[in-house]
Amino acid sequence: MKNLKLASRETTRRTVIDVSGVKIGRDFVVIGGPCSVESEEQTIETARAVKAAGADMLRGGAFKPRTSPYSFQGLGLRGLKILEKARKETGLPIVTEVLDPRDVSWVAEFADILQIGTRNMQNFSLLKEVGRSGRPVLLKRGMFSTLDEWLNCAEYILSEGNPDVILCERGIRTFENYTRNTLDLSAVPAIKELTHLPIIIDPTHSTGRISLIGPMSMASVAAGADGLIIEVHYNPDAALCDADQALTPEMFTKIMRRLRPLQAFMDQMPE
Ligand code: PEP
Ligand code: MN
Repeated sequence: MKNLKLASRETTRRTVIDVSGVKIGRDFVVIGGPCSVESEEQTIETARAVKAAGADMLRGGAFKPRTSPYSFQGLGLRGLKILEKARKETGLPIVTEVLDPRDVSWVAEFADILQIGTRNMQNFSLLKEVGRSGRPVLLKRGMFSTLDEWLNCAEYILSEGNPDVILCERGIRTFENYTRNTLDLSAVPAIKELTHLPIIIDPTHSTGRISLIGPMSMASVAAGADGLIIEVHYNPDAALCDADQALTPEMFTKIMRRLRPLQAFMDQMPE
């Protein structure tokens, strides 16, 4: 891809990002947690459950990009403080979304990884700001974006001096409406051909269906993804955001039990 100077894959070198000992790009990394931080109890109980199931990191939004302005927008600073507490309790590093360039510097004080959501993939001022944040960035693919456009957005972050970009395929919009989006699993091997950056899969937002999250998680491992980000809620029926697609801790545990052996098997596969 012609405009890429830093994101393109010219050597066999692969980026490995060390987040408190979790090595993204080398180990298969699972990030679990609620769509949004709703309360201390909800977040800490969910964090404990995902940790017990073997997750490596905790996700949770304090700033939510909602389709309607009347939907729950997140707890903001209060949510970030809850995430900080959850990290203290469980030791899990925190992945959380930032929506506004003006918030990047202070949100970075709470986050181990800053998430850029699909709706903001091409928010160039936000990309430049997270490029200067000193934190690794989880860059979700825009729901209408090509791989070329996505990698150019990674380039925005890299070119500000931040080498730690993790790509996340979260589904693209197609005519299909049984699923919330269409998971482009071919993005995994394609991205591996095009860049040295790690790529993880979000089987939650791409399918929007609980029953499909397990199979697509297994398929992600087989496709060579570097990890997964999955929504889990200790009581999905009461979730304030994305309730229909949140796994219970029991469902998440079941998937993790199936995932780890497949991952170990894949690690032994000849190239
Ligand atoms: C999320 O991770 O909760 C989220 C809003 O994701 P996306 O930006 O992929 O819709
Ligand atoms: Mn969500």
